[in-house]
Amino acid sequence: MNRSLWREKYPEDSYPAFPCPKCKNGLLKRVKDKGVTVWEEGDDPMIASGKFTSFFACSHAFCRTVAVLSGIASSGPYYYIDQDGEEQMDEETNFYPKSMIPGPRIIAIPGKTPKAVSDEITKSFGLFWTDRSSAANKLRNAVEEILADFGIPKATPAGKFVALGARLDRAEKLDIAHHGTMVALKDVGNTGSHEGGLPLKDLLDAYDIFEDALEDIYGGRKARLDAIRARLTKPKPPAAAPVRKPATQVSKAKIGPPANNSEYFLFVVLDGSEASHRIHLSIGAIFLPCPLLGRINAFLGDRLEAPYRPAGSGRLRTVCSRAEEPDSAAPPVSLSPMRR
Ligand SMILES: [Zn+2]
Repeated sequence: MNRSLWREKYPEDSYPAFPCPKCKNGLLKRVKDKGVTVWEEGDDPMIASGKFTSFFACSHAFCRTVAVLSGIASSGPYYYIDQDGEEQMDEETNFYPKSMIPGPRIIAIPGKTPKAVSDEITKSFGLFWTDRSSAANKLRNAVEEILADFGIPKATPAGKFVALGARLDRAEKLDIAHHGTMVALKDVGNTGSHEGGLPLKDLLDAYDIFEDALEDIYGGRKARLDAIRARLTKPKPPAAAPVRKPATQVSKAKIGPPANNSEYFLFVVLDGSEASHRIHLSIGAIFLPCPLLGRINAFLGDRLEAPYRPAGSGRLRTVCSRAEEPDSAAPPVSLSPMRR
């Protein structure tokens, strides 16, 4: 909705084009030289008041709906400060609409809206300038019809009236969209709740949130946007299998190619014990009966002479680097010669 169109008063014969209530695309434009304003004598000689009537016609060639707007005209002085700081007086005339027949289309009503719902909203349009509390009450009636459309009846099977609040509670349990909007429209449409009348801003707010809800409920917007979201959302890749480190790793960089007859200190962890051990090995005399064997052999080439195996149970899991000096604090794994 375009909120700037809807005011309590308009400068003399200066109306915006109002949306046509009959067709979707046409605009109601004022018909020039068809209006009448009749002024009346009042108690205050400075202020003139009267009644006006203006005619409008739809701009759409195939519609041409005619509407009549009428209300109170008021003309009087108004004061302002000019650019020299002097107070000046001028005269202004404003028109205060009180009714328009047929009422202008304040919000869009989707084509698939049930007739019982759209009828109440249309009645509200006709009351917009006449009685704002009544206009809001028609929106509340429209909420009643929406709930009936969703299968929440206005009365029990025995014919007992069900209050709107109770029906809305049921709607909440059924997860019907825009429940919060419908609760707000129930409250703002309660005619007894506005002392001194409903402010224009509140009524416009009610139309605003109602239009939004209607577009989702009957205009298909929510379903359309949900489908777009589903289409644009990339499916999650299947969860990758956890990366498992090989049970046994040999760092070539750390072990490095052996120098001639240099000594290596391999850091060994035996499965099952989780204890760390240093093994003092000499090149040319290594044989470890474990998966490491092939990789260590690759470094030591064919200089292996006597095979060895660790005395502990389990298999070698980790081998670390060559150490320049063995850590004497760590007990060595005893390696016993193994005959081929
Ligand atoms: Zn029209």
